Amino acid sequence: VSRKWKVAPTTINLGDDVLIREGALAVMAGPCSIEGEEQIAKTIEHLKSNGIRIMRGGVYKPRSSPYSFRGMGIEGLKIWHDHAREANIKIITEVMQVSQIEEMYDYIDIYQVGARNTQNFNLLDELGKVDKPVMIKRGISGTIDELLYSAEYVFSAGNERLVLCERGIRTYERASRNTMDLNAIPILKEKTHLPVVADPSHGVGIRHHVEPIALASIMAGADGIIYETHEKPEEAFSDGQQTLNFTESRQLIRKMKEVIDLR
Ligand code: PEP
Ligand code: MN
Repeated sequence: VSRKWKVAPTTINLGDDVLIREGALAVMAGPCSIEGEEQIAKTIEHLKSNGIRIMRGGVYKPRSSPYSFRGMGIEGLKIWHDHAREANIKIITEVMQVSQIEEMYDYIDIYQVGARNTQNFNLLDELGKVDKPVMIKRGISGTIDELLYSAEYVFSAGNERLVLCERGIRTYERASRNTMDLNAIPILKEKTHLPVVADPSHGVGIRHHVEPIALASIMAGADGIIYETHEKPEEAFSDGQQTLNFTESRQLIRKMKEVIDLR
């Protein structure tokens, strides 16, 4: 995945004029967890009215506690897919294990590899054999080179439609959920031809700091932003503390458009 091997930046084409590429800004937004039909419909309405073409959401959730909400599973994904197809919205969702690759295939546009699975090498091997894009998040305590090696697993197995995502790393600092490593963005852009996306929601983990970290990520060179939004974040099944309501989300979209040409 090195720039030494391929100088031209990689463009990921999701169809219907939805691209993830250098020089543009791909925005992916949606809840942490898919919770039900009404939430799906309301989120899609919000995305549509703000020109966002890619919706995020988890149906298989990696939760620290086994007693927390762990997602609606494949049935939730099918309902989501029905609504998204109708609205011409693309889907990115987390795949947690090999058996889910095939299960999800018909209903998703991008497989997300979460921070807890960045070094699940068997999962990466199998994702190298599918013909759908994969976004790999940086490991919770993973180095930049480890993220690149994870991408290398998928790429060398045959799937070159890859996106990398900086989502914050675990450091000694406890004032924020994670430490957003803004340095990683220009460093990754220098090292690899793959698109680099930033996740300010998990990066800082505090709702009212998501906007400045998103804007800073764009200035650092991110090709895309993925963030969490929900009609009522305080009622969200997961990650409400870092989730923007629709008013905050709309404002972020407006500000992102303002800074995009300043890069
Ligand atoms: C998520 O995107 O909701 C998620 C679980 O992210 P991460 O893998 O970065 O923790
Ligand atoms: Mn989340």
